[in-house]
Amino acid sequence: MSQSTLEALGSRAPRAAEFGRDALIVCDNLVRIYQTGSIEVQALQGLDLLVDAGEMVAVVGASGSGKSTLLAVLSGIDAPTAGRVRVGRWDLMAMSASDRVEYRRSMVGFVWQQTSRNLVPYLTAAQNVVQPLAFAGRPRRTRAARAAELLDVVGVGYCANRLPREMSGGEQQRAAIAVALANGPRVVLADEPTGELDTATSQEVFDALRTVNRETGATVVVVTHDPAVSGQVERTVAIRDGRTSSEVLRRRAEAHEDASEIVAEEYAVMDRAGRVQVPREYREALALTRRVRLALEADHVSVWSDGAGGSTSHAGEGRRHA
Ligand code: ADP
Ligand code: MG
Repeated sequence: MSQSTLEALGSRAPRAAEFGRDALIVCDNLVRIYQTGSIEVQALQGLDLLVDAGEMVAVVGASGSGKSTLLAVLSGIDAPTAGRVRVGRWDLMAMSASDRVEYRRSMVGFVWQQTSRNLVPYLTAAQNVVQPLAFAGRPRRTRAARAAELLDVVGVGYCANRLPREMSGGEQQRAAIAVALANGPRVVLADEPTGELDTATSQEVFDALRTVNRETGATVVVVTHDPAVSGQVERTVAIRDGRTSSEVLRRRAEAHEDASEIVAEEYAVMDRAGRVQVPREYREALALTRRVRLALEADHVSVWSDGAGGSTSHAGEGRRHA
């Protein structure tokens, strides 16, 4: 390794020691094991995730991959088995019961998949938003105006005096977002909020979440089973087997003539120990199995299958360590 490479590695070391220092949400090697009888399920298996303040991030993954477990941890409902999790100034591993109540009331808002779980059925949309304001002790005279304002932000001001059963699924979920926003949380967590909705209605709910993100500055983490969502947010994080495995970043292609063109690029996620999951298609295409050969090049790392005929002559060009 050259001197400059060593220096570059050395200068990076202190940053690694403060993983996620500048992020709003830090999940560091999170493990959650559920024990049912003699059966152990590892719902989270060393998950790392950083979310910056003001971001809107989508979390995708197959059923059972750990998405709801992650959101339950971030919302303070569930505690991880091991690892570190911090949201703002709150260390979620070291919260007292009263901290937990305060955290859930002031820092995070939550939207569930089941419309029926988000709204009290015998209260109007406006009364549903007023309820958490009352619990938080907001002055009575300001509550109605605040409820009306929040319902407007998510586009369902016209539903203020309707009961949930007089609203469509999409309207109910948007009202649920207004309820989640009532106490001005810095983070809004939504677990498959569009899971029970058709595509067109899902779009309205996503639009509402984007508006919330833009206009209130709340950081939004939304779980969805719909991979097409990566077209709607700047960053999509994929969870596989309880770990973050890849990210898709969307950004405007500036160099392009058509400045409005959006490019989406997929990245593999490297954990803090340097582990990267090679996608199955790549592994199969090159028969990468238990052992692979790595070589450090000037600006990338090459990976060859172990013992593949064509790779041996090539591997000679890579660096060999005695
Ligand atoms: P997702 O939301 O991505 O579908 P979950 O986080 O709900 O995934 O579940 C992850 C894994 O943990 C699954 O194997 C699930 O069966 C298991 N699991 C979730 N909650 C519990 C629980 N309360 N008790 C036992 N196992 C659970
Ligand atoms: Mg789930």
